[in-house]
Amino acid sequence: MFSTCSICRTLTPYGVSRCPTHKPRRHHVKTRQQRGYTEEYLTNRRIILKDDPICSICLRRKATTADHIVPLSKGGTNKLNNLRPACLPCNSGRGNRT
Ligand SMILES: [Zn+2]
Ligand SMILES: [Zn+2]
Repeated sequence: MFSTCSICRTLTPYGVSRCPTHKPRRHHVKTRQQRGYTEEYLTNRRIILKDDPICSICLRRKATTADHIVPLSKGGTNKLNNLRPACLPCNSGRGNRT
């Protein structure tokens, strides 16, 4: 069974509504944060956040993200020893991508 691209009508795998050329942007994924964030990061973030930790930067708000201690752009890794719990305002405020 196949579907067709909703733009050019090329056959696509079943359930896929766009061919590779017309692939929709993934709005359902966290697009802004997604860049460079691997499966390893997501797994480790889940580990870090599973006990509802407090943000390790402001020490006040509940952490909902895992912050890179050494940013990926500076050669940091997605390993547990480079991640710490952080709330969203703190994490996004540090400007990892500058
Ligand atoms: Zn198409
Ligand atoms: Zn914070």
